Amino acid sequence: MRILDTLNGKKIAVKKPKNGLKLFVCGPTVYDYSHIGHARTYVVFDSFVKYLRFFKSKVFYLQNITDIDDKIISRAKDRNISPEKLAKQFEKEYYADMKALDINSVNKYAPASKYIKEIQRQISVLLEKNFAYETKNGVYFQVKKFTNYGNLSKQNLSELRHGYRIEQDKQKKDPLDFALWKKTNESVGWGSPWGWGRPGWHIEDTAITEKYFGPQYDIHGGAIDLKFPHHESEIAQQESASGKKPFVKIWMHTGFLLIKGDKMSKSLNNFITIREFLKKNSSSDLRMIVLSHHYRSPINYNDEVLASAKKSLNTIEDFITTLKFVELNAINKTENKKNRTNTKKILEKFENNFKRALDDDFNTPKALSEIFNLINQANPKLWTLSKKEAVDIRTSINKFLRLFEINTVPVKIPLKIAKLAQERQLSRQNKQFVPADRLRIKIERLGYLIKDTPLGPFLTRR
Ligand code: AMP
Repeated sequence: MRILDTLNGKKIAVKKPKNGLKLFVCGPTVYDYSHIGHARTYVVFDSFVKYLRFFKSKVFYLQNITDIDDKIISRAKDRNISPEKLAKQFEKEYYADMKALDINSVNKYAPASKYIKEIQRQISVLLEKNFAYETKNGVYFQVKKFTNYGNLSKQNLSELRHGYRIEQDKQKKDPLDFALWKKTNESVGWGSPWGWGRPGWHIEDTAITEKYFGPQYDIHGGAIDLKFPHHESEIAQQESASGKKPFVKIWMHTGFLLIKGDKMSKSLNNFITIREFLKKNSSSDLRMIVLSHHYRSPINYNDEVLASAKKSLNTIEDFITTLKFVELNAINKTENKKNRTNTKKILEKFENNFKRALDDDFNTPKALSEIFNLINQANPKLWTLSKKEAVDIRTSINKFLRLFEINTVPVKIPLKIAKLAQERQLSRQNKQFVPADRLRIKIERLGYLIKDTPLGPFLTRR
């Protein structure tokens, strides 16, 4: 399998280390409910990990929780509660949302507030090695000391410097220098060799990953907005602290979920929370939307995108329901060897193409399109399939859908419709074709379709 590494712009082979792959993905800042933009990123990594675990390698999936942050402190002030209480509440809500979306592949969630010792240790190393300096406001990483700063986000540093607003800390040596430790008078804080304060954002993640993975690991993920300054600064901190390069082998960045052209975000107040979405739609609807786009491409979320995901799911569900009908009604003929070999070949090709698409930079839309190819290939010969062939096709599709936590619900025919269909069948058997036709039209008007197949009448939704 190969994944496009955002740092080098090249597809890099995902190795299968003996002890398993180490993956870290930036978790949420917990001051509000998570929205479907967050879900986009976390569904991608959940599906990615599940694919790796099923076909490739063991994975240790680590995610931090940013529970110390300016936004948390400011929201807590507005609500007149402590930042700790606010963060704890929304950390819990985040886990509940992930559960509702069947995102259950993370081995360890690491809230930053539990790693203050590790954070302070890393800051001390950076100070000792002269990559950091202390001012009256905090401890800062000196960007000029790290020559590769800007490589990940391909930034022109002098332009950036120029564009930066005058910083409040006039003692900073360079506008690009970023805080490792912020000295504060607020109640949220910890004692440290540099006085009362709290960590900067970037150091939270490298302290956590160093604790669990050491100074180097396999894959680091997050959405594209985190490239700069967050991930850029993580590289600078960790490579400077350890002297080891590269910090990670592959940088994997997801595209945004947009709404009316803007990134869905808490700050723009243009978001749909995960739980709001799930009131009217299913987790599979959301997973279908996410996975029918390449993980690096933006998704322009709107009603049509949602409708199209539902339509795709319906197509798969209709097909699976038809296969079940074939399984129950297939004529017990001596198995046609030629047909059987043909189906086997089609399924082999389907599975290979599916995996090939995922192995090439986790191309989920291409992989999903293989399901529709299979449906198109199988549809013309559905009524000639043996029971075993129908079961094999259904099992093969379900294997991949389950991997992506896309649940299909077989089409349920209401009793009233089933009775109408029985009546129609009786009329047909009695050669009363006019009433039989009337019943067919009535069934259609009620949203169902009756197909007269060589295996008998088959009811489906219109
Ligand atoms: P935050 O809570 O803003 O720190 O975001 C948590 C994670 O979700 C980060 O990896 C973000 O980049 C990602 N994220 C936030 N908004 C979106 C969005 N609209 N589309 C895709 N990913 C997002």
